[in-house]
Amino acid sequence: MLPFQDLKLTNTPRMEEYVAAATRVLRSGRYIGGEEVEAFARELAELLGAAYCVPVSNGLDALRLIFRAYIELGRLQPGDEVIIPANTFIASFLAVTDCGLTAVAADVDPSTFCLDFSRLPLSPRTRAVLPVHLYGRPCWDPEAVSDLREQDILVVEDAAQAIGASAGSLMAGNLGDAAAFSFYPAKNIGAFGDAGAVVTSDPDLARTVKALANYGSLQKYHHELCGLNCRMDPLQAALLRVKLPHVEEITRQRNARAALYSELITNLDITLPSPSQPGTTSAWHQYVVRHPRRDALRRYLEEHGVMTEIHYPVPCHRQPCCASHPLLRVPAEGVPTAEELAREILSLPIADVSEEEIARISALLNEFKST
Ligand SMILES: *Cc1c(COP(=O)(O)O)cnc(C)c1O
Repeated sequence: MLPFQDLKLTNTPRMEEYVAAATRVLRSGRYIGGEEVEAFARELAELLGAAYCVPVSNGLDALRLIFRAYIELGRLQPGDEVIIPANTFIASFLAVTDCGLTAVAADVDPSTFCLDFSRLPLSPRTRAVLPVHLYGRPCWDPEAVSDLREQDILVVEDAAQAIGASAGSLMAGNLGDAAAFSFYPAKNIGAFGDAGAVVTSDPDLARTVKALANYGSLQKYHHELCGLNCRMDPLQAALLRVKLPHVEEITRQRNARAALYSELITNLDITLPSPSQPGTTSAWHQYVVRHPRRDALRRYLEEHGVMTEIHYPVPCHRQPCCASHPLLRVPAEGVPTAEELAREILSLPIADVSEEEIARISALLNEFKST
């Protein structure tokens, strides 16, 4: 059986380095903050070309801290609207509503599966847009974004799936006003537990996020803000520092795997992911195909020993926790593309698969008869 992703396999290369990094922390006596976390922050900021990085506990907290900080800074107020794509991981919705902001679910582009900047459900209350670089594809439209900025609308990137992606000369995470990263173990750069980061070039935002993540304090036992405890452990920072120099290599490998799938899958009933827009590089966190009989296709692959996933089977606004949530608004015309995608999308293994495995999976897909 070929698993969708085997994290043991993902982390087998460089295991000696992880053991050395973990041992260094265990022997250091420093288990909160300190050099490892500061070095990780510098190295990630440098990789992305951003001025500031605040390492935090996970991707959801990274998003929540950004919105909380904008509220502290007076840039957002409870009740303001934040546009999110209707098909995303639930964290995008939870971060917005947890801060007392209203999430407006927007339909997505049928070819990129990402927010369509030309059709945003803007209202006079729109104060921020949260593009999600879904499956690692940069969700970016420089002209539309500069229009939003002129209207004083913030652009916060959910870059949880997109480390290593780029648009033009900029890395994902350094495109908007602020970005959230996740280092959940299955992400392209995964920790050995939970971890995340906030990245921005705005010094006020960076300082406020840093304080909020550490009990509202920048100076020990002096608390300027009612903060939280959302710090990244030095243990995770040290382990992630082993992976950071390999972002480019990991992105290149995933691009090669995606290209091979797209070359080898020739079954016309299967819709392949659309190629990256010119001038952009996807991190290919997922390779997602569409088929009108998705569930039958998924069963067929499983019967032939190949496990797949669905990202995501239920759009946010259909989740029980969102249905009739007072802080969720869905446009009157609905979000038909997002609903259709939820029924038809299927993620193929991409994390550690070999060329032979991709060839075998593609051959199986080409033999699949939909009737
Ligand atoms: C993984 C993910 C998150 C949340 O990250 P955690 O570290 O699991 O909290 C947020 N948004 C998207 C799009 C994600 O894929």
